[in-house]
Amino acid sequence: MKIQAQIGMVLNLDKCIGCHTCSVTCKNVWTTRKGVEYAWFNNVETKPGQGYPTSWEDQDKWKGGWVLDKSRLRPRMGNKPTIMKNIFSNPFLPQIDDYYEPFTFNYNILHSSARFATPPSAKPHSMITGLPMEKIEKGPNWEDNLGGTFEERSKETNFDDLDKEMYAKFENVFMMYLPRLCEHCLNPTCVAACPSGAIYKRSEDGIVLIDQDRCRGWRQCVSACPYKKIYFNWKTKRSEKCTLCYPKIENGEPTICSETCVGRIRYIGVLLYDADKIKQAASAVETTDLYQNHLDLFLDPHSPDVIREAKRQGIPDNFMEAAQNSPVYKMAIDWKVAFPLHPEYRTLPMVWYTPPLSPIQEQIESGKIGSNGIIPDVEMLRIPLKYLANIFTAGDEKPIKEALVKMLAMRAFMRIKTVENRTDDSIL
Ligand code: SF4
Ligand code: SF4
Repeated sequence: MKIQAQIGMVLNLDKCIGCHTCSVTCKNVWTTRKGVEYAWFNNVETKPGQGYPTSWEDQDKWKGGWVLDKSRLRPRMGNKPTIMKNIFSNPFLPQIDDYYEPFTFNYNILHSSARFATPPSAKPHSMITGLPMEKIEKGPNWEDNLGGTFEERSKETNFDDLDKEMYAKFENVFMMYLPRLCEHCLNPTCVAACPSGAIYKRSEDGIVLIDQDRCRGWRQCVSACPYKKIYFNWKTKRSEKCTLCYPKIENGEPTICSETCVGRIRYIGVLLYDADKIKQAASAVETTDLYQNHLDLFLDPHSPDVIREAKRQGIPDNFMEAAQNSPVYKMAIDWKVAFPLHPEYRTLPMVWYTPPLSPIQEQIESGKIGSNGIIPDVEMLRIPLKYLANIFTAGDEKPIKEALVKMLAMRAFMRIKTVENRTDDSIL
C-alpha cells in the first residue's frame, strides 16, 4: 500500500445560487493578465446546458480523458503523431468562440431599456453583447433565459406583455448551477499528454501544476483534459490552469473561490488514498463500476492500521490531522452524499459534488417532502435522477437516490429541530 495525501473539495450544489462571485474573485486574482482574458479557471454553468467551453462534455468532439484500449488505458487525443507534427492542425482545441469572446458590459442598454414589471429591466445577454436575443446562441448561463423559444423571447418589448404560455413553460424548466474548476485528478490526462513533461502532480498534496519554464505550448493538455480546464495563454505561448491557490493552501488558508463563496457551498479537506490502486480503479471495464472503484481508493484516516502505516511512510502529522477532520472525507467517502464529476472520463477527479435537491416549494409547503418527518420521495424532485446519475456516477442511479434520501431526511430533521423548536430524542 502506497499512502498519498490529496487535497480535495466538495461543492454542495443545493446551495449554489449561480452568483459567479467565485469566478470573478478567481479571475481578479489569477487571470487578469494579457493572454488569458477569455479564461475562467473557475466558471459556473447552467445545467442542463452546453457549458464552458461549449459542449466540453462531448469527448467524441474534443478527444479528452482516457480510453480503455485492449484493457490498457491511453489518453484519448486523436491522432497524436499528426498533431505533434503540426500543432496548428490539432482539430481538438476549442476556439475563442467556444470560450465566448470577452465582453464589455454595456450599461447603455441597461439604462435605455423599456421598463419591465420586475427588475432587472434589460435582458442579461443583450446587456452584455448589445445583440438582440434572436442573434445570441450561447454565452455564460445562456440557458437561464430559455423560458420559451427564441422567437417568443425576441418579440418581447415589455415584461408586462409576456405571453402566458411562456410562463407555463417556465414552470416546467429545471436547472441547476455547476461551478467548475480543475479537478486535480488522481489520474490526470493532462500530465500524461504533455510532450514536454511540464505538468506535474505534487506528491505532497496532489495539486496539479504547469511548470511555465518547461511548457512549450504544444496544447496537448488542452485537448486531453476532459474537463477543458487548461487554457492557452496567447501572449506567453504557455498553458495555464487553476493552481488550487497553492500559495494560500500552503499557508493554511482556503482557496479564493471557497473564501468568497456567497452560498458557503465549498468545503476543502484532505483525503488519504492508496496510490497502488489507481491504475486498477481507472481501468474498470464497466463504466458504472468507476464510481465505486473511485471510492475504494480512499483510506479511513481513523483506522489504527492506516495511522500506523501513514506514519511509517512519512505522511506529516498535520496532514493526518487534516485527513481525520476532513469534511471531504465525511461527505464523499463516509456519508456518500458527494460524487465525482463524470467518473467515466477515468481521470479520478478530486472535486466532489453534492447533488441538488431543488424541491419544488409547493411540495415542501404541503409537507410532501422534506418536512414534518414525512418519508421523502425522490421521484418528486425537480432534477431527474437519470440526469444526475449521468453527470456523477456514469449512469448508476442507486447511489444518487440514496444520497438524496439522506439529504431529504436531514432537511426534515433540521426543520423539525429549528422551525418547530423540538429537541427531544423522539425526532431521531
Ligand atoms: Fe488535468 Fe485538471 Fe484536467 Fe484533471 S481536470 S486532466 S488535473 S487539467
Ligand atoms: Fe455558487 Fe458560491 Fe460561486 Fe456563488 S460564489 S456561484 S454560490 S459556488
